[in-house]
Amino acid sequence: MNMPEITDHHNGIIQVKISMSFPLRWVNSYVLRGPEGLTIIDPGPHTPENEEEWSRAFQELGVTFSDIEAVVLTHHHPDHLGCSGWIQQQSGCKVWMSERSFQETQLMWGPQSTMNSDLPDLFRRQGMPADWTDQLEVHMVSFMPQITPRPEVSFIPSEQLFTMGGRDWLPVQTAGHAPGHLSFYHEESGEILCGDAVLPQISPNVSLMPGSDPEPLQSFLLGLLKLKNLKVSTAYPGHRNPFRHFEERLEALLLHHEERLVKMEQQLASAPASGFELCISLFSSKLGIHQMRFAMCETLAHARELERRGRIAALHNEDGIIQYKMM
Ligand SMILES: [Zn+2]
Ligand SMILES: [Zn+2]
Repeated sequence: MNMPEITDHHNGIIQVKISMSFPLRWVNSYVLRGPEGLTIIDPGPHTPENEEEWSRAFQELGVTFSDIEAVVLTHHHPDHLGCSGWIQQQSGCKVWMSERSFQETQLMWGPQSTMNSDLPDLFRRQGMPADWTDQLEVHMVSFMPQITPRPEVSFIPSEQLFTMGGRDWLPVQTAGHAPGHLSFYHEESGEILCGDAVLPQISPNVSLMPGSDPEPLQSFLLGLLKLKNLKVSTAYPGHRNPFRHFEERLEALLLHHEERLVKMEQQLASAPASGFELCISLFSSKLGIHQMRFAMCETLAHARELERRGRIAALHNEDGIIQYKMM
């Protein structure tokens, strides 16, 4: 039986570490108690082990399902959204997310979704060999249990204060890591629940996905600049631990992406390359399919940004594979 680590930050925010796969190892769920009831932010991927972890956590906190008023999701990724449908089934609570995030759940897993073939198609055109693309559909389908059952959702009105744990939070919408991503900022204390918009130690993945945001890196960088306008005392992220050096972290992430763009340009200055070739040289070929998928989507996000800035061009060669070259 797994007992999740629970930390009471003594400001109405209780951090519960819910297990997930390597390399992230855990997602931070935050439990906020207030007169309106209990709010759970990002309850983690849905697995039998995590049902067990939540049962243990509720016992420890002296809470039952009937105390839960709402589940709030920063974004649609399975490691955040996963348990929300199950908790809703048990408690009848509302599940809140941004409308843009909901659109993304439809693109990924809705009845009309063609993502399981669109993503391998995109990767093929970007030069990824079949021994990789052939693994993708099984990999994508393997996430389904983690997001089943899907919740019925209510939309969080944007730029309007949202009450959780007896406090009013400003939803701040950014994109790049996930379209429609919401952070929640409490102006008086300077506390922010920032999901995966900003993480300590880890650079949040920025993915180009078919049918989604066509310029995700640009969106991500604009999001970092938007967050820079806030006076943050403590950030409560989706992974790793709460941290105080929020502004410094924003600067580091801005720099990291500029450096990676330079690296990509330097490689293309020596010879044109496909998206897959760029991915292998920026990351590694010794990745599992999960890591490879994120590495590839991130590489394509960077290539798109260089295209947007007029630094490189994408050309189709005779077998339909896209090659990037310097302008
Ligand atoms: Zn995420
Ligand atoms: Zn995450």
